[in-house]
Amino acid sequence: MRLLLVGPPGAGKGTQAQFLAAHYSIPHISTGDIFRANLKAGTDLGNQAKAFMDRGELVPDSVTNDMVKDRLTHDDVANGFLLDGYPRNVAQADVLRAFLAENKTPLQAALELSIAPEEIIKRLSSRRTCRACGASSAAGATNCSSCNGADLYQREDDKEEVIARRLEVYKEQTSPIIAFYQNEGILLTIPALGTVAQITDQAITALSKLA
Ligand code: AMP
Repeated sequence: MRLLLVGPPGAGKGTQAQFLAAHYSIPHISTGDIFRANLKAGTDLGNQAKAFMDRGELVPDSVTNDMVKDRLTHDDVANGFLLDGYPRNVAQADVLRAFLAENKTPLQAALELSIAPEEIIKRLSSRRTCRACGASSAAGATNCSSCNGADLYQREDDKEEVIARRLEVYKEQTSPIIAFYQNEGILLTIPALGTVAQITDQAITALSKLA
């Protein structure tokens, strides 16, 4: 299965990606997670990305595209992959399409998680992230919902002033990729409402109908 998730920040892409990647036995490739890991490790890539991430802006395409293309050459993508947070604009979608066409491994689905804007702000400003595994938990949680780690923090870019910019960036730059994948005939949309398990079930049902 070769698929990607698209949806605004806070739609639950990271959470769903973990379950879907486990279900299909494919790697979960999150560009945000890769950037955060590089930031933590103090690499050149992390240093290049930091200022953009702190402002809620996109890291330049030149950096992001090369990073994803490199990741997609690892052995573990032989059975497919799940991209989360990439592409974030039509130019990235074009690069991805060309790269996958060259490798004769086109995308099979772009799964959109749709959610109302008021719900997004509520979720993002209250979510906490696990320093050990990167999974998200709701406000008030003392331990990570995924690995039970006790070190939860608020991402710099989940603070209210940055959230507003991330949502603008999503609307202006990322949401046009929905029409892009609709034109490609591979867009599937499900509402990101209900429990995590209900949304995962809906996603699997939608994906099982693929030709
Ligand atoms: P995320 O965890 O997906 O919300 O990503 C966190 C931040 O990483 C974003 O706000 C961007 O600054 C950066 N980022 C993640 N994915 C991309 C991408 N595909 N293109 C550019 N910047 C990205």
